[in-house]
Amino acid sequence: MADNRVVQGRMVTAVALAELIENGDVMDAESITDADRDCPDCGGDVLEVGYMPSVTEFVTGLKCQDCDWQATDRD
Ligand SMILES: [Zn+2]
Repeated sequence: MADNRVVQGRMVTAVALAELIENGDVMDAESITDADRDCPDCGGDVLEVGYMPSVTEFVTGLKCQDCDWQATDRD
C-alpha cells in the first residue's frame, strides 16, 4: 500500500493507525492525511485518519507521529 506512514518508528497502514487510536478493531479506514496542527505534548507532526469502528459510526482520529498523544472527534 502506498498509504503507509511512520508512527513512533513503525510503518502503519490506515487501518493499523485507526486501530492504534481506537485501541481495538475497526471495520474500515480512509487514507491517512497530515492534520493541520501540531502535537500538544511534543510539538511533533500529527496524522489524521477517518475510520469506522462500527457500521453506524464514523470517527476522525488524530495521532502524533512521535509520541503517545492521540485524540478523536468523540472527545
Ligand atoms: Zn507528540
